[in-house]
Amino acid sequence: YNHVYGKGKWKEFDPKDLLLTYNALKVLEARYLLKNPETLRYIETPQMMFRRVASFLARGESKEVEEKFYEIMSELKFLPNTPTLMNSGTRLGILSACFVIPVRDSMTTPNGEGIYDALRAMAVVHQQGGGTGFDFSELRPKGDVVASTAGVASGPISFMRIFDVSTDVVKQGGKRRGANMGVMHVWHADIEDFIKAKTGQLKDVQLQNFNISVGVYDYFMKAVERGEVVPLINPRKTRIPGKDYDYYIVKARGYMDEEWIQEEILRELEERGGSVYLDESVIITVDEALVIAEKEGAIVKWVNAKELFNEIVKGAWDSGDPGLLFIDTINRRHPVWYLSKIQATNPCGEEPLLSWESCNLGSINLEKFVIEKDGKPTIDWEGLAETIRYAVRLLDNVIDANRYPLKQIEEATKRTRKVGLGVMGLARMLIKLGIPYDSVDAVYLSYQLAKFIYYHAFKTSIELAKEKGVFPAYDPRRYKDIWESALPFEQLLSTVDEGRVSPEVRKMTEIVDKLDFDQLKADRLKYGLRNATVVSVAPTGTISIIAGTSSSIEPLFALAFVRNVAVGKFIEIDPLFLQYLRKYELDDPEVVKKVAETGMIGDNPFMPKSMRKVFRTAHEVSPEFHLLHQAAWQQWNDSGTSKTINLRSEEPPQTVEKVYLLAWKLGIKGVTVYRDRSKSQQVIYFGIKK
Ligand code: ADP
Repeated sequence: YNHVYGKGKWKEFDPKDLLLTYNALKVLEARYLLKNPETLRYIETPQMMFRRVASFLARGESKEVEEKFYEIMSELKFLPNTPTLMNSGTRLGILSACFVIPVRDSMTTPNGEGIYDALRAMAVVHQQGGGTGFDFSELRPKGDVVASTAGVASGPISFMRIFDVSTDVVKQGGKRRGANMGVMHVWHADIEDFIKAKTGQLKDVQLQNFNISVGVYDYFMKAVERGEVVPLINPRKTRIPGKDYDYYIVKARGYMDEEWIQEEILRELEERGGSVYLDESVIITVDEALVIAEKEGAIVKWVNAKELFNEIVKGAWDSGDPGLLFIDTINRRHPVWYLSKIQATNPCGEEPLLSWESCNLGSINLEKFVIEKDGKPTIDWEGLAETIRYAVRLLDNVIDANRYPLKQIEEATKRTRKVGLGVMGLARMLIKLGIPYDSVDAVYLSYQLAKFIYYHAFKTSIELAKEKGVFPAYDPRRYKDIWESALPFEQLLSTVDEGRVSPEVRKMTEIVDKLDFDQLKADRLKYGLRNATVVSVAPTGTISIIAGTSSSIEPLFALAFVRNVAVGKFIEIDPLFLQYLRKYELDDPEVVKKVAETGMIGDNPFMPKSMRKVFRTAHEVSPEFHLLHQAAWQQWNDSGTSKTINLRSEEPPQTVEKVYLLAWKLGIKGVTVYRDRSKSQQVIYFGIKK
């Protein structure tokens, strides 16, 4: 597209587009750049796309703000999530990537929350490029009675299959295949079937458009450690007759383990002088709950927690599913916990959301913030802070520019105004700084970067509140500042015994130690807050290709690999790697070919030691270091951190068990593993040869 027809005249190709890699252009061409629907000719260049997004999201702002929006995108310092790039200023109105839709135990309900209402909501969201998450735990189990027809219920998993087929059929006009998260809480009577829904013979067959996760609670994880039994519940039988509220005793049980919530409950009890409703559930003590459940016949059976956990581990080892969601951690650290209880997340886990909420994401390209100072690479903190300011402002504007497909989504989203600023290019930043991904220095840098980004994103949200008003559900007294529960770095590290942070990296990040969170809190109390959450670490699957950097907080996957995406097959040799090879005059085709065979340098003795150290790929990095990075980013994050714990194909199931337990202890909100070659179709293959 040397010339593109735009607004009545031929436009010249913009030299800024030369910043884009070949793969970036391929992706943009296939799905993002607008075409004339009749002639199918492109009507925009990448720069025109950034302009379109900037001007659409800067309506009502000054010209300077619009320019800044354009600048941070065109310089590839920040990119909003795919639907914002695709749909801004077009007929399709959805700009957000993440949605959570409730599913009640009924075909349809008057307020549109039944099973088939959810199916419809999913279809309209997928059509426009959003991803959806569902908690299916309210559905009565397989074989239970259906009063209206005197029939037998087919259970949550059979309904999930309908959602799955619908996802296939909608296919989003060929632009984006739909993605779903299906959650079932560990107390559900059908949990054993759910755990096996995508493994063994069903692997590569069933629920291919779903990631599935078991919602686990602290009580369950403790029972696993102690080898205790836990009850499985039929949710239909736990209703209070004559009330709208469902109460799930085990939900309550999960909460009652938490000291903070007990305090809140007592306070509410005093204020209201009676019963307390949280998330439409009556909170009662565990013992009370069990007595009632027994009496009502809601407990289907008791199972050994460790055995159930082993089944989860086996499934994940075999196929990557199910993952775990730590429901207590999610709710304990949900800043607006007083609105309701979070039951599910979006497809990749970075957005634990309340029913009907949506969230729009955007990510900062960390690689762009490595600069030279006194002949040494370091971090451009000032530039980073400025980009954060405009990025959060842009994301906040997305909420008002969004055209919502359903009234409920609009209401829930505007009530909390959640936005999710994340990152990409961490691995490349580390390489440029000469720090190996699997080192204490790298984890410390992750921790400090996350803290810095959180601080500035939060500060921006306070400034926006001053200027444009607070989010409607803001309650200054009950809003929970998540930094008060962030685990200190040393505590994360104590889980692996791996040495100390170097003085150089401490010095490089000392600006972060000076951030004043007490002042931040005082400002929040004084001026309020515009967004209930401000950050979120998304996988950046496509936008990292557009930005030409490594995805999210992941290590490099391979130094050369074949990538299968909807638009075709790519063979990629990492450009940063190539640059280093050139530096050492090793860019010989034979050398490159050799590395490309396995995707990694490994112990190749002909490679310089410094290169062997920093070019560590996903399967060379130990599971502990994968987790430590995820944990570091999760501490300074009011939403979730999406990450795949990549395992080598020969890792035993015990590794998965270790990873899942450690994830819980490190305060991670959700965990997924992927063992190389455990599925017949995977997006990225390792090395060119295979
Ligand atoms: P991108 O890089 O395209 O902006 P990410 O890979 O960061 O997107 O994914 C962010 C979120 O976008 C996911 O968690 C999910 O909610 C949504 N999403 C991603 N891929 C799809 C898809 N194919 N269909 C629908 N939603 C998707």
